[in-house]
Amino acid sequence: MSTDLTSSPSSFRDTLPTADTSGGRRWLYPRSTTGRFTRWRTIVAIVLLTILFAGPFVWIDGHPLFLFNVLERRFIFFGVTFWPQDFYLVAFGLITFIVFIALFTVVYGRVWCGWACPQTIFMEMVFRKIEGWIEGNPAARKRLDASSWTTEKIMKKGLKHSVFLLISFAISNTFLAYIIGRDQWITLITDNPAEHVVGLAMILVFTGVFYLVFAWLREVVCNTICPYGRLQGVLLDKNSLIVAYDYVRGEPRGKLNKSELTIAPVMHSKGDCIDCKLCAQVCPMGIDIRNGTQLECINCTACVDACDSIMTKINRPLGLIRMDSQRGIEEGKSFRFSGRILAYSLILTALLGVMGFLLVSRSIIDVTVLRAPGQLFQHELGGNVSNLYLVEVVNKTYRPQTVRFRLNRPDARLRFVQPLSLIPAGTLTKGMFFIDLPEKMIRETSTPLHLDILVNDEVVDQIETTFLGPTK
Ligand code: SF4
Ligand code: SF4
Repeated sequence: MSTDLTSSPSSFRDTLPTADTSGGRRWLYPRSTTGRFTRWRTIVAIVLLTILFAGPFVWIDGHPLFLFNVLERRFIFFGVTFWPQDFYLVAFGLITFIVFIALFTVVYGRVWCGWACPQTIFMEMVFRKIEGWIEGNPAARKRLDASSWTTEKIMKKGLKHSVFLLISFAISNTFLAYIIGRDQWITLITDNPAEHVVGLAMILVFTGVFYLVFAWLREVVCNTICPYGRLQGVLLDKNSLIVAYDYVRGEPRGKLNKSELTIAPVMHSKGDCIDCKLCAQVCPMGIDIRNGTQLECINCTACVDACDSIMTKINRPLGLIRMDSQRGIEEGKSFRFSGRILAYSLILTALLGVMGFLLVSRSIIDVTVLRAPGQLFQHELGGNVSNLYLVEVVNKTYRPQTVRFRLNRPDARLRFVQPLSLIPAGTLTKGMFFIDLPEKMIRETSTPLHLDILVNDEVVDQIETTFLGPTK
């Protein structure tokens, strides 16, 4: 999406910022920035990176805070275990998350991309910084890339890519620890490698993927691969908060001579933009925000800090590039809620309410009872008829639970093949039981039965099943 907000030529639409005229990759060398937004982004990045790397290793009460074991279908989120039986919660959570993303983008644009997305945080706050420390400023990096292979170049490139591989390896291990859990991960890296070929191969594959993303793909992930970036074209409207250039104040742009620096803008015919192009030089996506909102912009606010530093130098108010809505810039109107934002907010509130209710009312024990396949009924001694059932009990808590089954008919009797009462913490236990009914009490081929499941004499689940019997 692109909106021509300026009177500048729109030739930027004809080419990709990351492609040269022959269609090849144009490597970006963004300058680093300083300023209030950069400071805040750095703090946010440190906090999020700390959480990300600590996540799999934080255990509370002997249990991990997070686990996303897709292989064994075990998920722990903020210390609460979710089982496949809780799939409806996961599905509902995903819907809520998607609506949240949509609503958040409508109101705040791509703040997520610039400030919280792991791709941006690792790229701009880790890999790009290391590249700068080893290879120097953007001009030095460009010279180095263009130069022939000298000892210095081999040393610098070798060091950079070794560090990149090491960090990718650390990310890969953390990623795997989220999936298989801390203890299994420690076993994997300390045991005999021959016994963990698959796990170790996974670490290497993930390392390769992360290295490829951060050393080579970089901004291509945001503007070509990530679907969220492409979605913003339909999610943003004129009231969405975006990083925007105030073309009303900035145009007509032009270099200032020394005498114009000291007089008020009303005294000369130019706008506040002095066409220094610093905003474009710091952009990690290679775009010029003065061309208007563009699909590539990740709202990182680097150009805001860059332009503010220029405005300070030329004694003009800050915020020529700022967080504002298109309407705010065009009409000088302040940011306000649109009907679409209100509708999204109502839907989100309702979804969060239902989600909260489902979480609070989630049973600690999940019981599934099925009639044994291929079995009808058996005649027993004493004039009884019996049916065989299979039962699965999931204890979703971190404590063993004593479970009791209660039938709704006083003349019915429940007999377990093997005792099933104490269910170990966090496990699925299987069992079998018979239900006996006196034959003379059976009135229909299929008699509905109702089972109460009790823990500590409290009903935690209710099961409806049927009893098959002979009819006269
Ligand atoms: S235009 Fe500004 S906010 Fe957008 S990606 Fe570039 S530097 Fe970041
Ligand atoms: S940094 Fe500010 S003054 Fe310089 S070109 Fe960009 S918008 Fe204009």
